[in-house]
Amino acid sequence: MNQQYPSILLEKAVGEFSKLPGIGRKTAMRLVLHLLRQDTATVEAFGNSIITLKREVKYCKVCHNISDTETCQICANPQRDASTVCVVENIRDVMAVEATQQYRGLYHVLGGVISPMDGVGPSDLQIESLVRRVTEGGIKEVILALSTTMEGDTTNFYIYRKLDKLGVKLSVIARGISVGDELEYADEVTLGRSIVNRTLFTGTV
Ligand SMILES: [Zn+2]
Repeated sequence: MNQQYPSILLEKAVGEFSKLPGIGRKTAMRLVLHLLRQDTATVEAFGNSIITLKREVKYCKVCHNISDTETCQICANPQRDASTVCVVENIRDVMAVEATQQYRGLYHVLGGVISPMDGVGPSDLQIESLVRRVTEGGIKEVILALSTTMEGDTTNFYIYRKLDKLGVKLSVIARGISVGDELEYADEVTLGRSIVNRTLFTGTV
């Protein structure tokens, strides 16, 4: 379909929006036209919030969760159980586990899972810093809460091999979630239950 835009500026804006996940050109056009109808201050606030987010957002130096401060609110909270660390793929997973209100430990955000197909190797992920955290001591249990995909399993096993000799208990969340489901899509009750009912990880799937 050869869509004619009456303005290059409009075409550019639609082009940018349609780069976002799940946004086709039709939706992009609707969003852009919606923004055009707003007053200048509203659109500036919208644009600035994205630019400021990108420029100023920090990642917790301990767990790599998104944060406004050097150490995130979860790591800095003395009420949390610092002897338990839950390993997740991304920040959305932290939010999903937090929403269950079943977990009082800390997190470690890997930034993805090992996926040779996508060119993601162990060194692209925050695995070494996890090993360092465990080596530094004070952590009794590491809970693996990665998605139940082949990539998730590969990553579980890689972490297991890295941590096995360090004398830390390694557990995996119960597979109440069906295979292939991503953690963030599990409902809160199911996810909460699968954390409570976690099992010892022995290196076999
Ligand atoms: Zn943190």
